[in-house]
This record gives sequence, structure tokens and C-alpha cells, in this order.
Amino acid sequence: MTAAIGVVITEHIVAGLLQEENGQMALTGEPLRFPVDPSETDALIGVPTNELYELLAAQIRPLVQAAAYPVSGIGIAVPGVVRGGVVQDAPNLAQLKGLRMGEALGAVLRESGLDAPVHILNDADSVAAGLASRGGNLDRLIRVWTLGNGIGYGRWPIADGVWEGGHTVVTLDPKERFCGCGGVGHIEGIMGNRAMRLRFMDMEPEDVFANALKGDARCREFVDLWHRALAAGCATAIHLGGPGRFYFTGMNIRFLDIKLLREHLEMMVRMSPLQSYSLEVLGADDAISILGAGVAALRAQQDW
Ligand SMILES: [Zn+2]
Repeated sequence: MTAAIGVVITEHIVAGLLQEENGQMALTGEPLRFPVDPSETDALIGVPTNELYELLAAQIRPLVQAAAYPVSGIGIAVPGVVRGGVVQDAPNLAQLKGLRMGEALGAVLRESGLDAPVHILNDADSVAAGLASRGGNLDRLIRVWTLGNGIGYGRWPIADGVWEGGHTVVTLDPKERFCGCGGVGHIEGIMGNRAMRLRFMDMEPEDVFANALKGDARCREFVDLWHRALAAGCATAIHLGGPGRFYFTGMNIRFLDIKLLREHLEMMVRMSPLQSYSLEVLGADDAISILGAGVAALRAQQDW
């Protein structure tokens, strides 16, 4: 029997203990959270990295102590590009960029007597891993789009690669240059919350979608472009990796019209063996990402 810890860093930190139950990993007890007040959304911005490691260790320690079995992996999901334990980029938590986070946090934990391998992964990947694990589908292809300030793309099974699906090029229009990375024609440059605010200097994204419903031509045209951009991203993922399950999560799923997305996708994917995909909206649920982070940590050592 084994235990793991799953930790997810977004605008807050949540951490939970996972233990084996009937052959599956499951969350035991309530997750811990920092800051405790969910309305505080900027508590992690600018926190120095040594303080961040202490915050993480302070959440991990009591969970390890509560475990009934030895903890064989600690998974940390972060909003950024992660390769080989290094956070290569993290636009929304800039202090993480360049950190060898697995090594550094592992060292902090060892000082307090905890010697379990630390595995760092992308936060969208942790959602995909959690969905796969919860459904008992660890061998099935799952992809997750997170629609927020940036556009995240996660996949399970985790495979070596960069997988920055949010920066898929979906238009050749040279005027499409609102992406946070500076690249031209990217999905995020159309769909990202920040990009929408740059495009519509005179209204907030929620007003754009509300005005589209009221019949405003410019807004309607944009809402259609927004859905076509996501459909194009899914179509490219399908043409490269095959059909499978797509989930959509993040604050801007409030704008998503699955029926419209499906209509566009059906026009973009015409080869019949590729048409067996499914599209599903997923509400915010920390428990899924915590589970995914822990399971990915165990999988990384082929321990479970
Ligand atoms: Zn980009």
C-alpha cells in the first residue's frame, strides 16, 4: 500500500494526501489551502522562492505525518512550462522561471526529515492526470484546455515534449499579435483573457460576450472567432495525436458554447477514423488536480 502528496500552485496553493483504496489512489481528508481566504488571489505574486518553498513544506509536512502508509512521491503542479524538473517559464508566477524546483524543494523537505522524491509538472497536465486516474483510464488519451489569462493545454499520458498547445498557430493574419508570448496568430492571442482586453480596449471580455448575445456585429464576429480558434486547436491536436477526450476548464468556460465549438470542429476534422472525439466542460475542482499531481509523481518513478 502506498501514499502520495499532490500539491497544486495556481493563484493559491492546495495540497492533499492521497492513499491507495481498492487499487486506486484517492484523496484522504480535506485538502490544505494557502491562503485560507479564497478571495485573496494575489497572495503568491512576488513571494520570494525561499519563502515559497517554506510555504509548500509547511503544507506537505502535516499531510506526510497523517499518512497511514509510506509517502513514495510528492507531485507539485505549477502554471508553466516544465521539463526535467525545471520550470522553464511561468508568465503568471514570474519568480518560478528557471527554478530547479524538484531538487530545491526536495532539499528543504529533507532538512525536516522527509525523504520522498519530488516531481514537478504543468498544472493543466495534472488536471488531465487526475481525470484519467479518477475514471480508471490511465491508458486512455485525455487532453485538457484551461481557459484563463493564458490558454493552458494538458495531456495524459504525460509524454516528453513541450505541449504548449495554447500557442498553436490558428490564423495567418499578421494583425493577430495579442498573445502573451509575443507570437503572431496564436490561440492565446485570440482566446486569452489578457489578449481579449488588449483587443477590446473599450470593454471587458464579459461585455463582449454579452453584447454578442444582444446582436452587436463586431462582438458576434469575435465570439465566433474565439470558438473557431479553440476548434482549430482541438483539430490540430486530433490530427497529430488522434481523437480522444477533450475537457475544458478555467475561469472563461463561462463563455464557452460547446454546441458552437462542435459545429466548427466538425467542419475541421473530416477523416472518419478521427471523428470519435468527445468534448466536455469541467467546473473548477482542486481535488482532480491534487489527485493528478500525486498520481503523476508515483508514475514518474513507476511506483504505481
Ligand atoms: Zn503565444
